[in-house]
Amino acid sequence: MIKNHLKNYIINLILFFFISSIIFSQNEVTKGEFFLLGKIDLNGTLNSGLLPEAYLKFKQMQNDAKKEGVEIEIVSGYRSYQKQKNIWNNKYNQNFKQGIFGTKNINRIIQYSTLPGTSRHHWGTDIDVIDKRFTPKGDLLMEKNYSENGVYSQLYRWMKKNSKKYGFYLVYDDSPKRKGFKFEPWHYSYKPLSVMFLKRYIESNIIFKITQDSSLLGRKFINNSFLESYLKENLLEISKDLK
Ligand SMILES: [Zn+2]
Repeated sequence: MIKNHLKNYIINLILFFFISSIIFSQNEVTKGEFFLLGKIDLNGTLNSGLLPEAYLKFKQMQNDAKKEGVEIEIVSGYRSYQKQKNIWNNKYNQNFKQGIFGTKNINRIIQYSTLPGTSRHHWGTDIDVIDKRFTPKGDLLMEKNYSENGVYSQLYRWMKKNSKKYGFYLVYDDSPKRKGFKFEPWHYSYKPLSVMFLKRYIESNIIFKITQDSSLLGRKFINNSFLESYLKENLLEISKDLK
C-alpha cells in the first residue's frame, strides 16, 4: 500500500515538474508583441507546428480518434510572418499582372489569405487537419471534402463531437451570422491559449504596426481605418466560443 502510494506520489511530482517546465518555457517564448506577429523563431519550441501545451492535448486527441478509426493529421500548423509575407507578396504580384491594382488587389487577397502579422497560424495554437487515410483529388482543404459525402466527413463528424474536450475549436465555423473569412471546416484552434493571445493582440493595438514593414507589397493602400475594419470584420468574425 505504502509502496503504491509513494509510486503515485513520485509520478505526480514528475508530472507536475514536467508540465510546469512546459508552461514556463511556453510563457517565455510567447510573451511580447513580436510573438503575436509571428516574428519570433519558435522552431525549437514547437511540435508539429504547435506550442507544447497544445501539442500534448493534440496527441491525446489524435490517439483517441485513431481508436475509432479516424487518423487526424496536421497539414498546416505554425506559419511565420516571413512565410505569410511571401504568400501575400506573391498574390499581390499575380493580381498586379492581371491588372488588379490598389485596394482592389488588397481586397482580393484577403478573401482567402490573411495579412502577414494577422494570421492565427502565427501563434502555434491553430492547425489545419485532414484524415490521413484519404487523398482526395485536387486541393485537400476544400469544403466539399468535409461535407457529408466528402472523404473527410468522418473526421469532421468526429471533431464536431469530440474536439472541444481537448480544447480544440473550429475558428471559421458555418454559423449563418458570421461574416469575414469563409467557412473552414479544417481549421481548429487550441482555445486555452488562443483566446488569451487574441485578447493581447487586440489590447496591444499591434495590428497598426504591420505596415511599418517596407517590403510588404501594397502597404500604402493599407491605412488605419482599413486595419480597424479588417480587425473587426475579419479577425474577430470567428466562432463565438473563441472570443
Ligand atoms: Zn488554417
